[in-house]
Amino acid sequence: MNKKLIITPYGGLGEIGMNCMLIETENSAILIDCGLMFSELDHFGVEFVIPNFSHLLTKKDKIRAIIATHGHEDHIGAISFALKAGIRAPIYASQFTTLMIRERLRDTGMHETVPLNVMAPGTSVELGDLKITVASVNHSIIDAFALFIDTPIGKIIHTGDFKIDASPHFGNMMDQNEFKKAGEEGVLLLMSDSTNVERDHEALQDDKIALRFEELFKKAEGLILVSMFSSNVGRMANIFALADKMGKKIALTGRSMEQNVRLAHERGVLSFDSDLFIPIEKISQYDRKKVIVMSTGCQGEPRSALNRIAHAEHAHVKLDQRDLVILSSSQIPGNEVSISKLINELFKCGADILYDTIEDVHTSGHATRPELKQMLEMVKPKYFIPIHGEYRHLVHHAQLAEECGVIPENICVVENGEVVELGPDSLQIVDQITELRVLVAGREGSEITKTLLKDRRRLGEMGVVFCLMTREKDSGKILSKPEIIARGLVSEAMEPWLLDEAAKVVQGQIAKYKQDLKMGVAHQDFAEEIRIELRRFLERNLGKKPTVIPLIMDI
Ligand SMILES: [Zn+2]
Repeated sequence: MNKKLIITPYGGLGEIGMNCMLIETENSAILIDCGLMFSELDHFGVEFVIPNFSHLLTKKDKIRAIIATHGHEDHIGAISFALKAGIRAPIYASQFTTLMIRERLRDTGMHETVPLNVMAPGTSVELGDLKITVASVNHSIIDAFALFIDTPIGKIIHTGDFKIDASPHFGNMMDQNEFKKAGEEGVLLLMSDSTNVERDHEALQDDKIALRFEELFKKAEGLILVSMFSSNVGRMANIFALADKMGKKIALTGRSMEQNVRLAHERGVLSFDSDLFIPIEKISQYDRKKVIVMSTGCQGEPRSALNRIAHAEHAHVKLDQRDLVILSSSQIPGNEVSISKLINELFKCGADILYDTIEDVHTSGHATRPELKQMLEMVKPKYFIPIHGEYRHLVHHAQLAEECGVIPENICVVENGEVVELGPDSLQIVDQITELRVLVAGREGSEITKTLLKDRRRLGEMGVVFCLMTREKDSGKILSKPEIIARGLVSEAMEPWLLDEAAKVVQGQIAKYKQDLKMGVAHQDFAEEIRIELRRFLERNLGKKPTVIPLIMDI
């Protein structure tokens, strides 16, 4: 029998973010991760980019589970949207990941709509003719999994996001023997994280960062502010332990920071005395030297706590020249400009600012080239698909796989929407799905369609002109002078001239209309005629065509 496996990546291949992939046999399917991406288009009201679920919905009866590899937003952030779209499959994930998913679902009122199944490392679940075994990996969040999937045609491995950290500050080093064992038994396909393939050096290990933090904390003369991803529980534990040791107090700012500390405590991974914490609004009552503020916003997010602190707009945290600010995070591609702006603003506060390019205060959660090589050598896959990376990362990872002995014809660089067919002796792209993404305005927010975005862009870039007048309903007589209102069009100085000239154009149209009215000539759409003439006038004088909205009220 000629069995095949179909693999469809909806996101995460050719970009960093929005990871989502369907793996299906003839009878069953599983969705691996369902993440979102933060939008660069925030100024048009677009907050998130999520996968377009319409293709996935055609398969919904086959989908046996949504399996989340770990709790980062680019892996779990769109689950609530998938549920809302009508994909109703039970969710499987590690303990900490399920807690994070539960919070997301609770935020959207969907936490009781779907079963959340906790999987312990090393356990398996059978879903139709697919058997999934989860294996712990190191990453910048606790409880991250790689997936070993037994399929009717052989074993495939999806690494999730991973690194091989010999001395993680938290938890154990990932068990490489499971990967080696699978490699010895035979792995048909490996799909592996490509994010850091361009980094050739060994990554800094967590314990080195912990030591560096201790040195920095000892030298600090004022308040210490640490900003990091709120999901990095390992780093949090490190800072809590230091604070305890040095007799300092912790104040948290940022909702997700507070939420994740609570979750990690609930999960039992963070233990602390509650008197370690002080409310952020009370920090002024403490000796500045005794306070560590932990905040979100390390990516320069405009509404974050850190951004407010940098702009001296935070109600409780004001920095001065004695203070030390540590950005303990990497820069997510696409966020460089906002992070750079943030760092500049922080420098203006006079404090000392340390970040990953000038000081060892962060290490990435993704495997660098030597670790990726190690993964390929352990698993020795017959076929290889690089995942989780921009296109250049995928290409570089494909080259690395070739160096590690995978036959070039057995390596496939796949982009989002390309449908892959895997057989025992074949790997090929067989189809292509388009329209892969949907823009949304926040967690509860509605879709921002192409037309809506186009309108917002046009309004933002060109402005808008209204032309108001009243007309007698029965006779068609114009009763008022036209009133022209413009927004976002020209400078204040130029506006009176423009409005006068525009009013003249409209008066001209009215005169013509009146004359035609006398002669009994009917105007099908007088408002449209005004719109066209005003647009012509504006294009002639401004070189652009703003949105023109004539409003004629028949009374
Ligand atoms: Zn991740």
